[in-house]
Amino acid sequence: MKPAAKRWWTLAALALSMCLSTGFAPQSLLLSQDAPPTAPACKFCKSTGREVCSEHPAGECESEDGVLYCSHIADCKVCAGTGWVVCRECKSDVAQAALDKKKADIEKRRIALKALDGKMDRELCKVETKHFILVWELERIKVDKKFLNQHEGMHLYAVRLERLYDDYCARQKLVDKDFREKFKVFVWGWPKDHEAGALAFCGQNASGGVKLMGSTPAYSVCGNKRNFNDDDLLHRNIVHSVTHLMLSAQQFPAWMGNVKGGWCDEGLSHWFEDRYWGICDNYCYQESNSNVDFKGGKFRLAVRKLIETDKVPPAPQVFERTSDTLTLPEHAVAFSYVDYFLSRDGEKFKALCAELKRKVHTRDALKKVYDLSVMEFEALWKAWVLQTYPTK
Ligand SMILES: [Zn+2]
Ligand SMILES: [Zn+2]
Ligand SMILES: [Zn+2]
Ligand SMILES: [Zn+2]
Repeated sequence: MKPAAKRWWTLAALALSMCLSTGFAPQSLLLSQDAPPTAPACKFCKSTGREVCSEHPAGECESEDGVLYCSHIADCKVCAGTGWVVCRECKSDVAQAALDKKKADIEKRRIALKALDGKMDRELCKVETKHFILVWELERIKVDKKFLNQHEGMHLYAVRLERLYDDYCARQKLVDKDFREKFKVFVWGWPKDHEAGALAFCGQNASGGVKLMGSTPAYSVCGNKRNFNDDDLLHRNIVHSVTHLMLSAQQFPAWMGNVKGGWCDEGLSHWFEDRYWGICDNYCYQESNSNVDFKGGKFRLAVRKLIETDKVPPAPQVFERTSDTLTLPEHAVAFSYVDYFLSRDGEKFKALCAELKRKVHTRDALKKVYDLSVMEFEALWKAWVLQTYPTK
């Protein structure tokens, strides 16, 4: 290869990697090797075709690429809510077209999201992503020993919610069309806002987190330091609660927690707590009591001990419970049932969930999906726990 051609390829490869990392489709670089790229190699913008908007603090514009709308910068006269402007040196057409498209999308979402503001009689701090609308009213939050401002905190939680969505769907092989609408999550800074917001968006209120299950899923919680004195606790609470919303919304919307599917409803939410933290400490009682604890939240260890000491709640009893009548040991066992099913086959678990939502009793659903009686299931599950769970 001639030196000039080699340099062109190096630049193209460099620009390609940059375009990929910033989320811009490098269309000009996908043409045949004879066609010159339409976006010129530019040292100023490193060939991304754009630069961050000068109106916002350093490091905050990059996260706008991950969202569809952010109220924090939506009114900016310079970037029109995109966080970026086209590079003043290369004036890339490709980048300009992408920014124009995002600006048009932002305007559409601004109008749709106005309805939320209307219910609270003020403009809410909010962000919209592919699968969530997150209202975030915590002025700051300490994450890993560093204080994040409201804007940074909101984007962090938007990323976390999308990550949960992907993980949740991957476990059961669900796709976007298994859900009817976006999930709304409200994290308030003041109890009075949570009280009004839960009533407005979830149809009821309580001092603890409030969920609206089913086809228009929503969760409202007061995320202040009094309720959650660190980021992990708030994050875990949101993972637990949003898992409930997702289970209730998938396929056909229905809440199984009040029709004897309590073990599956609570078990799956605990499963995601355990997955990320190895601790389960969220319980959905009518008036949630933050002091509830079972064996320090170490459910695997607890379940193993219950089986070893012959004190494990029998499956026929657990399968009669609604979500709010499960005892503490039953919560741990419910987690472990879900753990067992997900370790076998996520798609079969999805089928089991669908049966429970149709108000089929777990006994009959087990027979239909797994061809197992309750006794057979329980024996298999116990053996699996003793084989796989830690002893300390
Ligand atoms: Zn440039
Ligand atoms: Zn933002
Ligand atoms: Zn701006
Ligand atoms: Zn729960």
